[in-house]
Amino acid sequence: MKDLIRRAAEDLMGAKRAVALTGAGISVESGIPPFRGSGGVWERIDPMEYGHIETFEVNPGRVWRGLIQELKDIIDRASPNDGHRGLARLESMGLLDAVITQNVDGLHQAAGSTDVLEFHGNCAWQRCMDCGEKVKSHDVDVSTLPPRCLCGGVFRPDWVFFGEDIPPMTLQRSQQLAMRCDLMLVVGTSAVVHPAAYMPVIARDTGARIIEINPERTPLTGTISDYLIRGGAGEVMNALIAELEGMK
Ligand code: NAD
Ligand code: ZN
Repeated sequence: MKDLIRRAAEDLMGAKRAVALTGAGISVESGIPPFRGSGGVWERIDPMEYGHIETFEVNPGRVWRGLIQELKDIIDRASPNDGHRGLARLESMGLLDAVITQNVDGLHQAAGSTDVLEFHGNCAWQRCMDCGEKVKSHDVDVSTLPPRCLCGGVFRPDWVFFGEDIPPMTLQRSQQLAMRCDLMLVVGTSAVVHPAAYMPVIARDTGARIIEINPERTPLTGTISDYLIRGGAGEVMNALIAELEGMK
């Protein structure tokens, strides 16, 4: 791993426009289980079914009880880990322009990253399905589920359910970043949820170097990515920052 850390540090130093794409894996060390891989709440329910907009529309109370409330509680208790902090540090060192994240937990912003594109929205806000009113999640009364707006409409998280489109502005800017970057760090994503998983492909097609950080291989490994640094996000980011600081 040491050689790859050195190589990644040199690649970052040589890059002019680096961006990161992150997935649920970067938040695992903060106690938030990913959708795929062993362990965690999703072995009990199928996130693809529960997380689908049609399932929510048919029975919002069931989805609130089975998925949203549980994920919200876990996220409320979570704080950033060395993986999030490492990416924020790269930004402050002038080595990373932006973070495109698939996560809905807000932990990149909490760690200090200032340009975060929330590809799948976030869990911090709820939106009324009828009148569109947006309310901070903390201020929503969840004593009966699904929670309802004053107008009587059902509140839904301001995230992107499976089956919904990515917010157009976010998609457009992510594509631009992917097209213009010369290095993409892909951290903790299984790279199977589209169109997020397509961002490294765009970056690769326009000549960027792609570095993966993940304990496991992904469909990008050996095809789209130049190399995989195998390990947890926190451990790898710590080693990378130490290497970069030693190079200054
Ligand atoms: P995923 O659940 O499909 O895959 C997680 C990936 O993280 C796997 O490749 C796994 O090998 C890797 N991983 C596990 N532990 C790791 C660690 N310590 N460090 C680095 N990598 C690690 O995640 P995904 O690709 O992001 O897709 C799931 C979708 O579900 C996303 O679109 C996301 O919106 C949503 N989701 C979000 C959260 C969150 O906000 N934290 C949590 C669960 C799911
Ligand atoms: Zn309303």
